Amino acid sequence: MLNQKKISRAGGVTIPAHLRRELGLEAGEVMDIGYTDKGDIVLHRARGFCLFCKSDHDLIMYEGRFVCSTCINRMKKEAEQHV
Ligand SMILES: [Zn+2]
Repeated sequence: MLNQKKISRAGGVTIPAHLRRELGLEAGEVMDIGYTDKGDIVLHRARGFCLFCKSDHDLIMYEGRFVCSTCINRMKKEAEQHV
């Protein structure tokens, strides 16, 4: 389903709250903005923050969320202890 939004006087477009929640988008994330040959505007997540510790280093995207390598390693260790 597409959402319709007006461009503000400052040129901003608000991403609907339900999309921000579904995609884990948080205030402060950096987005790349470009456009296709057809004139469609494309937003691409350029940089974000770890879902757990808010770090912005060594991030991977998992299920639409950023997770840092430190938190991944902590989860691995905890998972190994529960096997
Ligand atoms: Zn983390």
